[in-house]
Amino acid sequence: MSQPVVAAIILAAGGSSRFGEPKPLLRWEDRPLIARAVDTAWAAGLAPVIAVVGAEAERVAPELAGRPAQVLRNYRWAEGMSASLAVGLAALPASVDAAIFLPVDQPLITPALLRGLVARWQATAASIVVPEDAAGRRGTPALFARDFFPELAALSGDVGGRALFARYPDRLTTYRVADPAALIDVDTPEAFARLQARARDSAPQSPLSRARAVLCDMDGVLWRGSQPLPGLHAFFAHLEAEALPYVLVTNNSSRTPAQYLAKLASLGVTCEARHVLNASLAAAEYLANALEPGASVYPIGGDGVYWALEARGFRIASGETPVDAVVVGWDRGLTWEKLATATLCIRGGARFVATNPDRTFPSERGLVPGNGSQIAALEAATGVEAVTVGKPEALLYRQALARMQAAPEHTLVIGDRLDTDILGGLRLGMPTALLLSGVTRREELPQSPIRPDVVFEDLAALVAAWRHT
Ligand SMILES: [Mg+2]
Repeated sequence: MSQPVVAAIILAAGGSSRFGEPKPLLRWEDRPLIARAVDTAWAAGLAPVIAVVGAEAERVAPELAGRPAQVLRNYRWAEGMSASLAVGLAALPASVDAAIFLPVDQPLITPALLRGLVARWQATAASIVVPEDAAGRRGTPALFARDFFPELAALSGDVGGRALFARYPDRLTTYRVADPAALIDVDTPEAFARLQARARDSAPQSPLSRARAVLCDMDGVLWRGSQPLPGLHAFFAHLEAEALPYVLVTNNSSRTPAQYLAKLASLGVTCEARHVLNASLAAAEYLANALEPGASVYPIGGDGVYWALEARGFRIASGETPVDAVVVGWDRGLTWEKLATATLCIRGGARFVATNPDRTFPSERGLVPGNGSQIAALEAATGVEAVTVGKPEALLYRQALARMQAAPEHTLVIGDRLDTDILGGLRLGMPTALLLSGVTRREELPQSPIRPDVVFEDLAALVAAWRHT
């Protein structure tokens, strides 16, 4: 199973009367709990995201307008939680391999926690993954693999998946959560007030003062076209003064590290090769771990793809013989012949690796097809889903973290795109800083389910704030 499909089922049907209004509508920061739960599941990459509503559904459901969730109504909510499980499970397509059940009233669940459950499930033979704190207390949200769906759907009364924990101890594994507060649910107005106060007080040390290392995007952050952006030199001076290790990471696969170093030098910044990681280098690194040395690879893409594969000792295939892998990066010289060769290689069993998922590229003429569009064509022709290396998938960031031997929770992600830079950071539990000097405009922020920790106009503003932490 290369890319398992994990769904989220948000349980928001209950009719608690203790709050004066339905729990899903309680506000946490700037959103109702139901919207927060959907945003968290979506940011974790879970799909589909299903919200099961019941009590006062006509007030709760509209809060999800415009969000990427399927809203289902459990008319039998008064019978207890099991009816909601059944409603959610019945809506899952056959392609779903596992599902995570999220109670709507645990506001401190993070995308990183949900990713952790999925990773734990993939790394073990267990069919149930349960979060657990350092004291051994088990909680929710729990992950269940498909083989348990029938039994979950058959539960009755006010019980949830916990009913199966004791029944199947040897099919269950636990996942240790970093912050035990993530498992706390809001049962009374007093508990809710306490949790809000705690979130304010433990208020996260500023993401800037927490940073011990930096992952920084380039285009739209350091420069736009050939123009350096404000704060460029102050930024590198700050990294040097604070002795912060950093890697400049980009989904762009077309250039070589030497080309990036030359570009930086032309803007008056001196870096070394270890400071640059792009998606083609990361793809070659990924394959170096997956294939034998000297394996053959059919590449589509620019100089950067060829250079990275050759530097790793792969044989560049012309496509006439069976090959071990196909690597696809953005290729302005793409032809039908290249697509045909890649299709035949993948159909012949070659691994299929995409440097980055960006579907479009912002050209002077407007949005034109990017690498994601090339990948979509090959996926359609082969029925095989590519392994994607670039942001928001985890491989690129993980390799950069490994290079610095840095912990994700102490590594600041700086980027200008919510759906790649920031989302990738959220999924790994990294603090994130969005800069408005590139693609994202401030007006987009309130609508987006992706929430960066801090937002600045540009690097200059970021560095100014950083110096004062
Ligand atoms: Mg960018």
